[in-house]
Parts: sequence; C-alpha cells; structure tokens
Amino acid sequence: DNLDPRLRSIVERRMSILGPGYSLIYRNPVEFVEGRGAHLFDREGNDFLDAYNNVACVGHSHPQVVEAITSQIKKLNTNNRYVQESLVDYAERLVATFPEELSRVTFGCSGSEANDLAIRVAKFYTRNQGIIVTRNAYHGITSEVASFSPSLGPTSPIGPNVVLIEAPDPRVAAAEGLSIDEYMRKEIKRGVSELARHGFGLAAFVADSLFTSDGIFADPASYLKPMIEEVHAAGGLYIADEVQSGFGRCGDTMWGFQRHGIIPDIVTLGKPMGNGLPLSGTVFRPEVAYEFGQNCRYFNTFAASQLPIAAGAAVLDVISSENLLENAIVHGEALRKGLHEIVKNSPYVSDIRGVGLYTGVEIVADRDSGAPDKRRTEQFIDELRERRILIRSCGGEGNVLKIRPPLVFNSSDVTRFLETFSDIAKVLL
Ligand code: PMP
Repeated sequence: DNLDPRLRSIVERRMSILGPGYSLIYRNPVEFVEGRGAHLFDREGNDFLDAYNNVACVGHSHPQVVEAITSQIKKLNTNNRYVQESLVDYAERLVATFPEELSRVTFGCSGSEANDLAIRVAKFYTRNQGIIVTRNAYHGITSEVASFSPSLGPTSPIGPNVVLIEAPDPRVAAAEGLSIDEYMRKEIKRGVSELARHGFGLAAFVADSLFTSDGIFADPASYLKPMIEEVHAAGGLYIADEVQSGFGRCGDTMWGFQRHGIIPDIVTLGKPMGNGLPLSGTVFRPEVAYEFGQNCRYFNTFAASQLPIAAGAAVLDVISSENLLENAIVHGEALRKGLHEIVKNSPYVSDIRGVGLYTGVEIVADRDSGAPDKRRTEQFIDELRERRILIRSCGGEGNVLKIRPPLVFNSSDVTRFLETFSDIAKVLL
C-alpha cells in the first residue's frame, strides 16, 4: 500500500499489458538497476543481499563474463550450423566435468528445453511413454514438461502417463519403519506398477538431484542408488535434472547426482550455465541418443551461438579460478551452523537442511504436530525483504525458506544474513 508512485505505475502498466501467469515476488515489490557479486542495487543505490539467485552463479555482472560477452557480441553472434570452434571447445570442457559414460551434449536455451529433449529421447529409446516424478516436482514450461511438473498446479494437469511418488524425506520413511533407501525403492516400484496398471511402460524417472521444489532433500546421499536400480529393472531411463543442483552448487561435487555415486542416462543443465545468458544442455550416454540422432534433426535457432557459449566458457573459468566449489562448502556450512544456533530453541523450526550453498529452513505451527506454516514462512520472507535480504520459499506446502545465493557469497555476506535473520527470528521464530 505504501508503494512508491513510480513503482506503482510500472506495476499497474505491467498488469494491464503482460500475458497470463506473470507474478511479482514480495508484498512490497522491488526494482533493481544494478548488480555486483551477491548484491543488487535499487534506483536509490540501496544495497540488497541476494541470497536467492542461482542464475548469477559467479555473481551479478561478473567482470570476466561481461568482458567475454561484450567482446564476442562486437564480432559475431549467429547460429551453430557453421563451423564454430568455440562451441566444440566448450562442449569438450563441459563433458570433461562428467563421468566418462556421459560423453555427448546437445545445447538449448532453457532448462525446459533441456528436459523436453531428454524426455523425447527417453521415450524414443525405451519405446515407452510412462514418466515418474516426485509429488511437487518442477521441470519446466513446455506443454510436455509441464505435464510432469505437478508444482505448476491445476492449470497444467499432469499427464495420464505420469505417476507421482513421494519426495525423499527421511522422517516420513522412519515413520513407516523403513530406511530412506528402502522407502524410495518402494516408491519407484509403486510408480512402475501404477504406470503398468494404466497401460504404460516406464520411459524415465526424472529427478532434481536435490529435490528442491519438494523442499530440499540432500541427505543421506544414498537413496538414489536403489531408485535407479528399480528404474533400470523396469526398462526406464534415469534423467538427472541438474538445473538447480549443478555447476558446483553442492560444493563437494560439480553435479548433484555425483554425491549419490551413480551415473544417470541423461543429465539436464540450465540456469547457472550462462550466468544469465540463455544456455542449457542435455548430456547423454551416447548409446541412448544414437538412434534418435540418426532419425531426428535437432536445430535450436538461438542455442549455442557464439554469445551464450562465450558466457558459458567464462562461467567455467570463474568457477575454477575462484574456487567456487570450496566457497560453497565453507560458506554453506557457516550459514547452516549460524542458523542452527539462532533457531535451536524455536518451536517454529522443525528442520534445517541442505548442502553447499543450498539451504532450507522448515517452518511449522509447532514442533510436535509438525504442521506446515506457510503464513509465517511468507511473513519471514517479506520481513527479510524489508531489511534488504532476498530469499523465497519452496516445498509442497510452501513452508521451507529457500536460501540459495550466488556461489560467490562470502563471509561478510554470511554475517549480514545471519545478523538480520536473527533479528527477525526474535520476533517471528
Ligand atoms: N528444472 C528445474 C529443477 C528448475 O528449477 C527449472 C527452473 N526453475 C527448470 C527445470 C526449467 O528451467 P527454465 O526456467 O530455464 O526453462
């Protein structure tokens, strides 16, 4: 209600011109005009701490990325049907970060396109149509991918060939008297037989390696192995969606699936890959993509042009030269340790979890019932925004604070985050 008149007018114009489905975050919307590292600045020069943006993984406006793309755009940006050495160089560098079984890559412009291609290939390879995902999964916006993204809600009903399984929450497994590994194996078996009952064989199990939209379930990093065994036994493929968990986010490994000691059939990449330029990838075991490649032409006009490839190469350079995996471990752990200290006596926090620079804080009405408290979660997020710290929420019940800063988050960012969090927690937690 106290919105600055200029912002109000932009918001009103926006509402009257943009198509369906756009939304603004925060009760009190904000406009940014500049970014640096993990910081965003509004028109008045106020410094906001960005603890939410995984796209700007090496930091907003990183000078090396800026230099790479500005010098490229001055020369050329055209499509990839001409010989382009930078594309091949980048593909080789990227593929070298994967286990050797995953040795082919196709580029796209978004995570949705990466998943769309992955599922097409999986269906063609297996000659099956069935898909298994978790209850609140999100994999993208094309109509095919939306049909296995249940978190989109009623305007995008899940497909008749899609079965939902539970997220890997060890507490739910324990309540059933099972280990998380047993519980998730059972979930895949249930998914496969439900598909069979509806006449579908399994094409693929698609999973975000950190199950972020389900509420962030990083540990124990063992449960994917039994799941994949069941997927393969049913004749399906395992597609690891690394749009959230990839490019060093987990700290201990470049890719989230590696924490589980498994090798997917297909891996999809996006968001942080171009630090904001549209660049995504689908990485394959060659045998899985071979027959599809013999029978299909895949031309994606804007994908892997010189400009996004220049950005992608600069991102890999910076991840390595600035030791960002190590940074994710050090500052992610400091963040979770500080959070534990702040909320240890709170009746409203039932769990703090995560790995590297991906952290969830689960907010409940009381610890005994464990009932999700979405309203308090949203209040907390809005209060942080008022104090110029940006986060959002995730989880099927919208009650998990999602803290996912750029990988360049440093110790003074952690200190500022924890001090502000602590002030608000005194009132709300
Ligand atoms: N997969 C996951 C796990 C995602 O989080 C997202 C985007 N939030 C996507 C796929 C889709 O990516 P894009 O928005 O680039 O299409």
